[in-house]
Amino acid sequence: MRIKKNRQGEAMLPDMPGVLKVNPCFHRKDWAAIFGRDCPIHLEIGMGKGDFILAMAAKERRVDFVGMERSLTVMHIAAKKMQKKHLPNLRLLPADADMLDQYFPPGRVERIYLNFSDPWPKRRHASRRLTTGDKLKVYRRVLAPGGQIHLKTDQEPFFDFSLGELIREGWSVGKVTRDLHRSGIEGNVFTEYERRFASSGLAIYRLEAYK
Ligand code: SAH
Repeated sequence: MRIKKNRQGEAMLPDMPGVLKVNPCFHRKDWAAIFGRDCPIHLEIGMGKGDFILAMAAKERRVDFVGMERSLTVMHIAAKKMQKKHLPNLRLLPADADMLDQYFPPGRVERIYLNFSDPWPKRRHASRRLTTGDKLKVYRRVLAPGGQIHLKTDQEPFFDFSLGELIREGWSVGKVTRDLHRSGIEGNVFTEYERRFASSGLAIYRLEAYK
């Protein structure tokens, strides 16, 4: 979904509470210092307007959450929502997934959420998908032993592609469903896209992958 660029919002973003400064000198951040404690980190790549990660951070106070998003206009919307909540266990990282390795030391992340990632349906754009073999190798590096990827999407071809890449890269895959909301799952936290797609009757695909 395209949204109009908000130059003013983007300019304000770096000074908003909870938003991390993207400074090349800060690479491989000391996450324990950032959160003031040493807890498991759960990361959402492409968090959009933040509905999911804000709800997760409110629900799981013993986990530290990082929302990564490359659109600053979109992140500004999430940062505004965050201002109204008390969420000391959430930080927003305005950066591209390509930079993941630069921000997280090996084994630092316990879980990666990929929610409604851009499906890039054209074959010539396939390398941009967030679940290519190359990206999965990076996720494997930043994930701790026993680390997990939780993926949700409404796009069946993207889901099948992701499943294929995960298996090829040697991940164990479990809890696969092709209709999440009729699968009897409990405690599912909706993302913004999920709410929209589910209300128009679309099936939601979900899987977990284990390192
Ligand atoms: N997770 C949200 C938003 C899904 S839309 C939800 O489920 O509602 C996908 C989001 O991923 C967009 O906001 C897009 O800007 C972001 N995105 C796409 N590619 C990215 C990348 N390489 N790095 C960081 N964010 C990315």
